Amino acid sequence: MSTTAERRLNLVGGEWRDAPGSIDVLDPADERQVVATVPAMGAAEVDAVYAAATAGAATWRATSTVDRGRVLLRTAGLLRERAPEIARTLTREMGKTLAEASGEVGKAADFFEYYGGLGRAARGELIAHERADVNAYTVHEPLGVVLAITPWNDPLLTPARKLAPALIAGNAVVLKPASYTPLVALELARALDDAGLPAGVVNTVTGSGAAIGDALIEGAPAAVSFTGSNDVGADLRLALAERDVPLLAELGGKNAAVVLGGGSIEQAASSIAAAAWAQAGQRCTATSRVIVERSRLEPLVEALRREAERLVVGPGLDSATTVGPLVSGAQRDSVIGFVERAVAAGATIAAGGGAPEGKAYAHGCYVAPTLLVDVDTEAEIWTEEVFGPVVAVVAADDEAHALDLLNGSRFGLAAALYARDVGVIQRFVAGAEVGQVAVNLPTSGWDVHMPFGGAKVSGSGHKEQGIEGLHFYSRTKTVAIAP
Ligand code: NAP
Repeated sequence: MSTTAERRLNLVGGEWRDAPGSIDVLDPADERQVVATVPAMGAAEVDAVYAAATAGAATWRATSTVDRGRVLLRTAGLLRERAPEIARTLTREMGKTLAEASGEVGKAADFFEYYGGLGRAARGELIAHERADVNAYTVHEPLGVVLAITPWNDPLLTPARKLAPALIAGNAVVLKPASYTPLVALELARALDDAGLPAGVVNTVTGSGAAIGDALIEGAPAAVSFTGSNDVGADLRLALAERDVPLLAELGGKNAAVVLGGGSIEQAASSIAAAAWAQAGQRCTATSRVIVERSRLEPLVEALRREAERLVVGPGLDSATTVGPLVSGAQRDSVIGFVERAVAAGATIAAGGGAPEGKAYAHGCYVAPTLLVDVDTEAEIWTEEVFGPVVAVVAADDEAHALDLLNGSRFGLAAALYARDVGVIQRFVAGAEVGQVAVNLPTSGWDVHMPFGGAKVSGSGHKEQGIEGLHFYSRTKTVAIAP
């Protein structure tokens, strides 16, 4: 544990609490720097968190949705006011560029504005009844205490995406952020607290997921909202199924962009480059596969290579940087391992291919934007999620072959098509086995009011965001009242 770095605490029952264990949060641009330390909670502390959350759930359930909305709207305002400082912390703990971090803070605020505004919206509906004197309707009630477990790649946005709908629906939340990036989640808790959220309604738990995962489930949440890897998601699914606890899971992706049926190669390449390499490829919706009609393979690879060469890899706080470091040394090594095995399986590197050279990169977690061609579609690089700035390009013989390549993945998060032909577009939208399909737009970038969630092994089937995002966090009661 670092002795000099600032200590950040957890919000539990309206108080900022420490715990004996400690986690160092490192700067991925220079892993010798400890940005801050946070408590590593154990099982006893997690029990105390659930006691606080149960009390908070009772208070919040009895609070009107208009008043809940007011707190969320004030939270949005505080996030915007504090954006420069929060974005800086986000860049320091996660590595993404300051521009990307600022965008993330803005979008987190959007979530609180959107769902805060819904505090005044009608929910439930009047239902017809056989008897004219009977009033029948539905109401939506909170579930109780919801456990939210979030990953490191969007460490503010993902908690916001879960907390805003869970809170407006009247639930208390236990938030367990990723251990690499807990700091901005704690900043979010601070904004909620400062906005007047009653004690116990949001509580945070920092600590190793592997160490306290059982305690988090044994705390008996009414529902669990998880975003992260397929492995952890699968373990949670089994553990929660035994307890009859509903699980919303947003998991991995192997998103493809398809170039077919006309349109500008330059425009497609620029959009694909942004989707593949921004945020160093650490977006669940990042494009990691490109499928192009064979006649346009070469021009597209050339255009993508030019895009890769234009990017500037460096520390996220440097204003010239367009691609920051990966979140950790472990993630960098994992991504480089994928590239090395791809090359061993026959792939050719058309751009990047490893850590950039030079003293400036010596202590950071950098991987150059990487473009692979001659890829075997049975190889791991085509079938497994890499979660780094690596994209592989494969040629398709025709439209049917392109769709087969797209759908021949067990993942089904997002897909994009770059085309002009209306028939091609319509068949693609109908045939793509994914949760999100974009045409002449990148695979990433779904706004807060647009339902979001993966198909196949990429998700549990529940959508987040928009009105649909409220369904998971409430139960519907049907009422019939006779005089
Ligand atoms: P991860 O290893 O699954 O971790 C996610 C969260 O789960 C972290 O808070 C982690 O805590 C916690 N955790 C780990 N083991 C646990 C256990 N046994 N019980 C309870 N919680 C546990 O995923 P990640 O590496 O942080 O994130 C990358 C993954 O997230 C990628 O697969 C990416 O595709 C996916 N993702 C999906 C979406 C989507 O919307 N579909 C969005 C973003 C990311 P610790 O940090 O303490 O280990």
